[in-house]
Amino acid sequence: MAEELRDRTYATFDGEEDTPSLEELSRNFLSEQQKSWPELRLAYDSLRGTRYRDIVCNGFSVRLLFNPGRAVNTTAAVSPEKISQRPCFLCIANLPVEQKCILYRHEFLILGNPRPVVPFHLTIAHMRHIPQAVAAHMEIFLRMAADFGPGFTILYNGPRCGASAPDHLHFQAVPSGQMPVEKEIDGRKGFTPTVSRTRVTDVSVRGLAGLGREVILIEGDDVPRLAAAFRDYVHDLADVSTPPGGSAGEPMMNATASFDGRTWRLLVFPRRAHRPAAFYRDDDARLLVSPAVMEMAGIIVTPAERDFDRLDAAAIESLYREVSFIHD
Ligand SMILES: [Zn+2]
Repeated sequence: MAEELRDRTYATFDGEEDTPSLEELSRNFLSEQQKSWPELRLAYDSLRGTRYRDIVCNGFSVRLLFNPGRAVNTTAAVSPEKISQRPCFLCIANLPVEQKCILYRHEFLILGNPRPVVPFHLTIAHMRHIPQAVAAHMEIFLRMAADFGPGFTILYNGPRCGASAPDHLHFQAVPSGQMPVEKEIDGRKGFTPTVSRTRVTDVSVRGLAGLGREVILIEGDDVPRLAAAFRDYVHDLADVSTPPGGSAGEPMMNATASFDGRTWRLLVFPRRAHRPAAFYRDDDARLLVSPAVMEMAGIIVTPAERDFDRLDAAAIESLYREVSFIHD
């Protein structure tokens, strides 16, 4: 693997001083990859045609995204067996030959996401093929948010709610400020924070009522304390949320992390379902929306044009009620 890694490494980031920031490095890296990797260039060409539609719901808003270059037939079948038999596309040995990486703190590969939803969309894969789970890796998740700085937000999809590779630990990063929930929290509009319910000092863990789905806001300025508070929260959530197929593994959730230069902000979206029931229909009522972290944060990707055209506030509110886990 050492040789393979060396050949693929565009740059390394170890957090040393006097080196380019991770944000600058990543932006330059993606520009370079668009020149040297035709598949990524095509994906970015197609991204420029993305259409969007903002929908104001009760207390919050969402942005629908439709990329005509990526439109899919709503009746196309996706077999889970096919997916489970494919070679892991995050393992270094299986990456396309043109795909390069930034080696991050000897542990993760920062990669251009070959299916970007927004410009500068990164996939961040662990160097080893280890299962997707965030609690045990919360420190590096937060460290990454600080290393990227305020310009990027780090994203996590649980293995049963949106992760494209549930068997290989990975995060994503996107430029900050595009997901509606970020603005709603900054503006402190449309929601009422509950009192902090953590046992960890100097960390605040609050529910944000009024955003149409359960959003947990965890804030603090110390990584070990934040990680401890997050693990406490997940432990409590596991008591009330048993995922389908048994209680093994972490409770269903998506999460984001950002750092403003002093304080970390973690958002957790507890989940009760991976997809709305309408996803599985085979008639005109089929809704081809598969909510993952971006959808929970307010960017809803509609691969089918008819969903982009017909979704309205009531349908969005109902979608969130169906997949979000709301508890006391
Ligand atoms: Zn893998």
